[in-house]
Amino acid sequence: MTACRLLLLGPPGAGKGTQAERLVKKHRIPQISTGDMLREAVAAQTEIGLRAQSVMDRGDLVSDEIVIGVARERLSREDTRVGFILDGFPRTVDQARALDEMLESLGSKLDRCVVLVADEPAVIARLLNRAEIESRSDDNEATIRRRLRVYREQTEPLVEYYRARDVLAEVDGMGTIDEVEKRIGEALGA
Ligand code: AMP
Repeated sequence: MTACRLLLLGPPGAGKGTQAERLVKKHRIPQISTGDMLREAVAAQTEIGLRAQSVMDRGDLVSDEIVIGVARERLSREDTRVGFILDGFPRTVDQARALDEMLESLGSKLDRCVVLVADEPAVIARLLNRAEIESRSDDNEATIRRRLRVYREQTEPLVEYYRARDVLAEVDGMGTIDEVEKRIGEALGA
């Protein structure tokens, strides 16, 4: 596969994290999940964690300033030279622009943006199920609905952003994990 700098886009509950894990194993490139990094910051009660916690619990987006800083620090580490899978970043057009600039300054660019397409009742059901298994504090029904609205309003415009840059691959995110993994592989030409 030539495309190693990947972005997984899609609503919460579309399976980005699960598919990112599969891509990590397959291509031996690191997963970069701003959600995971922010949850770690919350758990460690760092300054960023303390600022992010209530925003995350509400289902809103943490400020671009915080998230871009977290992503920039992570992308500057050596292990991303071989490629990476971005999962949950960028989520706004300003974040996408900042990512383009970060990559440009590192002499690289995004190879492909895979958007996982999933219908809303299905992702709500998945998230409610995950709420029982993982007990994430932002997986209750009111927060789930808010996160989906935030996705539609602030993140979905990125589909057109990446289509215009000719890196978009739309993949049906419904079905089993294996089925979706296969479709992603095909979309990446692997
Ligand atoms: P996730 O695990 O990707 O669903 O992220 C969980 C929560 O972390 C989101 O609902 C946001 O509050 C916050 N978050 C994660 N990534 C970002 C981002 N790129 N921009 C803003 N907030 C984020």
